[in-house]
Amino acid sequence: MNDSNNAYYLRIIACLCQIYFSSLFLVEEIGASLYNRGMEVCELFRSIQGEGWRQGRLACFIRLARCNLRCSFCDTQYAWEKGKEMNVEELGEEVGAFRVPYAVITGGEPMLQDLTPLIRQLHTRGMEVAIETNGTLWQDSEVDWLTVSPKQEALELFPHGYDERFLSVANEFKYIISSKKDISFIDTRISSPVILQPVNNDLVVAGFILAILEEERRKNWFLRMRLHTLLGIQ
Ligand code: SF4
Repeated sequence: MNDSNNAYYLRIIACLCQIYFSSLFLVEEIGASLYNRGMEVCELFRSIQGEGWRQGRLACFIRLARCNLRCSFCDTQYAWEKGKEMNVEELGEEVGAFRVPYAVITGGEPMLQDLTPLIRQLHTRGMEVAIETNGTLWQDSEVDWLTVSPKQEALELFPHGYDERFLSVANEFKYIISSKKDISFIDTRISSPVILQPVNNDLVVAGFILAILEEERRKNWFLRMRLHTLLGIQ
């Protein structure tokens, strides 16, 4: 075997080694991502559900990071940022440690992330699971309670500010009210409970909503103040 043949075989061996180590790295990466199934989490806390139809119920909140909208009245702007990465198993453990059988997945906008692994993880722990979404990102979920809270910021995306596939599956709709314009934004085709929540628990707005309830006489419209704010808790 001459020198040029040796160099040729060495190059082939080097090439094969490179392919071998690259594939090992790839397998490791895929394995890690499958195991982690990471979610971006903003915060976890235990409180009562202060809003909506299930107001007053003890709950554990999973606030996921990031949102696809930028509402002017948003009181959770800190959730717009990138969150802490956690896999669903460790998330389930931390949520389980609160010892509350009811978990509310909220945001930010939770439907930016695939919620099925997390919902299944919480179900295996015997928990009931709720989602609060702005309704702009459709996901077919196995959740036990679904709250859709349409925002006028999404009117460019959908005629009623939300993906209408939610119309038949949402357990309740929640609208933040600050003026008459917000009342005309409410989708009157909704048959499930419609919660009218005064922005910032404003009592003047609450009075205005009462007048609207008198005027409209819709049997599925309800005024609800934010209970946790009244109680001064998170
Ligand atoms: S959809 Fe909710 S979280 Fe997102 S910006 Fe609007 S109020 Fe904030």
